[in-house]
Amino acid sequence: SKEGGRNTYTFFTESMNLEVSRELALEEQMHNALERNEFRLVYQPQVEIRTGKVIGVEALIRWECDVLGNVCPEEFIPIAEHTGLIIPLSQFVLAESLRQLALWQKDYNSSFRIAINLSPRQFRDPNLISFIEEKLNVSGVAANTIELEITEGVLMSGHSFIDDALKSLSKLGIRLAMDDFGTGYSSLSYLRRYSFDVLKIDRSFVKDITVSSANRELVNAIIAMAQALGLEIVAEGVESSAQLDYLAKRNCEYAQGYLFNKPITPAEISEMLQKQKN
Ligand code: C2E
Ligand code: CA
Ligand code: CA
Ligand code: CA
Repeated sequence: SKEGGRNTYTFFTESMNLEVSRELALEEQMHNALERNEFRLVYQPQVEIRTGKVIGVEALIRWECDVLGNVCPEEFIPIAEHTGLIIPLSQFVLAESLRQLALWQKDYNSSFRIAINLSPRQFRDPNLISFIEEKLNVSGVAANTIELEITEGVLMSGHSFIDDALKSLSKLGIRLAMDDFGTGYSSLSYLRRYSFDVLKIDRSFVKDITVSSANRELVNAIIAMAQALGLEIVAEGVESSAQLDYLAKRNCEYAQGYLFNKPITPAEISEMLQKQKN
């Protein structure tokens, strides 16, 4: 009916308005959130499957906003990207995670690694490489203990500055990881073209390996291909020991997921490293 049509229309615009105002509110709050120290990093262990040892962590950002409460990265990272706030935010992530890594290396394990997420927009920052170089120098950590995680979205644009940036990062000795592998389109050609060191199998593939034979075949193929290309493999989102057993049988080397740990505080990581040292 006419009436129903109008209601649908009204409902639709109102929900769109809500979305827009939420976004505006987030944008407004994010502007001062860095100065207000509302961002912090948590760390999720990466485990060597064969030994069960924690060999490194992935740094993941958290925002506890005074006004809006906890906001998840999947909601605020895209906004930070299109406002440009991702640049200072990522500088915080790089500086803070390298500072923390230096402490862990000094106190527990000199080859302990950190994986840091880079977002597409950061590649348009002409100071990206020099900033990373400076933070490496200040913290004193070895470049090959740093891994930068990049999704295919970064590579898809085909801009030459991305080529240059990835080459410079490799030259510094920093390791490159392809994140969320299998969710994009032409991952294979990217793996060949750029010098990736690590491939992270997306958790959507890991999720069903024990129930879907089609998914199992896909994971087998991804692992075989990574091995052929000499890449290390990290399986993401490992939640069950059945999943872990399967991956271990296929000679997947590393795993990350709730089966081991959720992302945890730096103090909890230190405690874990202390136990591992003893
Ligand atoms: P991602 O890089 O793929 O990170 C993995 C996400 O999966 C994290 O969510 C992690 O908490 C979650 N996860 C880990 N193990 C499991 C598991 O066993 N099961 C399930 N269901 N989930 C698991 P988180 O921390 O909410 O981060 C979401 C996304 O936000 C990240 O996905 C990444 O794309 C982005 N992000 C987080 N921190 C940063 C950052 O510092 N910089 C940038 N540019 N992006 C970030
Ligand atoms: Ca990641
Ligand atoms: Ca991922
Ligand atoms: Ca992701």
